Amino acid sequence: MGYALMTDEQRELVNLLHDFQMKELAPRVEECDLTGEFPMDVHDKLGELGFHGMDIPAEYGGCGFDEVTNYLIREEFGMVDAGFGFSYTLSKSGSSTVIRYGTEEQKKYICDRVLNGAIVCNCITEANAGSEVTAMRTTAKKVGDEYILNGTKCFISNGPIADVYMVIAYTDKSKGSHGLSLFMVPKELGVETGKHENKMGLRASVTGEVIFNDVKVPAKNLVGKEGEGYRNILANLTRNRILNTSIVVGTAQHALNEAIKYANERETFGTPIKNHQGIQFMLADMEQLVQASRNYLIYGANLLQRNAPKDVISQVAAGAKVFASEAAMKVTTDAVQVLGGYGYMREYPVEKLMRDTKIFSIFEGTNQINRMVQGRAITKI
Ligand SMILES: Cc1cc2nc3c(=O)[nH]c(=O)nc-3n(C[C@H](O)[C@H](O)[C@H](O)COP(=O)(O)OP(=O)(O)OC[C@H]3O[C@@H](n4cnc5c(N)ncnc54)[C@H](O)[C@@H]3O)c2cc1C
Repeated sequence: MGYALMTDEQRELVNLLHDFQMKELAPRVEECDLTGEFPMDVHDKLGELGFHGMDIPAEYGGCGFDEVTNYLIREEFGMVDAGFGFSYTLSKSGSSTVIRYGTEEQKKYICDRVLNGAIVCNCITEANAGSEVTAMRTTAKKVGDEYILNGTKCFISNGPIADVYMVIAYTDKSKGSHGLSLFMVPKELGVETGKHENKMGLRASVTGEVIFNDVKVPAKNLVGKEGEGYRNILANLTRNRILNTSIVVGTAQHALNEAIKYANERETFGTPIKNHQGIQFMLADMEQLVQASRNYLIYGANLLQRNAPKDVISQVAAGAKVFASEAAMKVTTDAVQVLGGYGYMREYPVEKLMRDTKIFSIFEGTNQINRMVQGRAITKI
């Protein structure tokens, strides 16, 4: 990763993760990009190092890291493979909605499962309900002390391999967003998986359909109150906008490092291409974008850590998400340009970095939706 202000402990942690990734993940990146498989053995080894507890408070047996440390860990993941880093950290942060809104029993349950290596996913999107969340059709009907879940979610990261599903469904459609509720649904209750997506990038992260066909969920698995699901998942989305986007800063830094290396080695017109001002300016612009993204997101992480007012955090999270994802797209695309024809070839790493980056402008709310969130917030008088 590039230079960032870190405490000694943070630097030690990031170095530990860096060395682990270089040894265990880097040699597997090309294979995972080809096969579209999540390397579960690497996931398990990270558990042995203690990383499964990265998002879990110390009182529940986790690491109790602050949000800036959580940023730094994710950026380091993004340096090696955004797909693996996204899936791994998403699974760990899947516990955070429960930690914030769940009962004591629910908190203990999810923390224990995550610490023991469970994969978690968030099920919001449906075929006709992406940006317009309230257009979803999944329902949870209360019968006695159970809810009966019916519906199909699509594009769910970790969906095909998850052990626990965090699911949004209507308990009362007539109330619109106030009729949506959140459930914690262990796979063993009868969750099925459907289509496995074949993606442009982020291929080590598996994405697919999740099907609920009369799945009986005990009432005690309702997280928060009935009708509060939308509000609670939005709060989690704000955190994800800051922390998941950290991953793509690492990817952009990786692309910049590759471009600088190549600019030193490749010669045209009798001199390394770094000596051409056209290339130097491009590299300087890339450096500015990476540093600005890092600092915007770390500012957001600091706001999260200090429990800043909700409207302030959500505005900053939306803006930082848009800025950093678009900056990374520019940086990774320019890295391909610096490498010329070789940059376009799979033999060199930068084309994959560009493919991995695009999704960060689409999920966690598209960049159009995030601009709306920020625009509305800053124009409120
Ligand atoms: C790889 C991947 C992983 C994903 N992981 C998950 C996951 O784990 N869980 C989950 O629930 N979902 C997940 N998603 C779904 C993702 O969040 C949605 O794809 C995203 O919210 C956009 O929804 P949509 O695809 O239906 O696009 P649409 O909502 O149909 O939007 C289409 C276009 O219209 C624009 N648009 C829509 N409304 C407006 C508006 N009001 N003003 C201006 N522009 C607008 C959008 O920005 C977009 O450009 C994932 C998607 C992908 C591709």
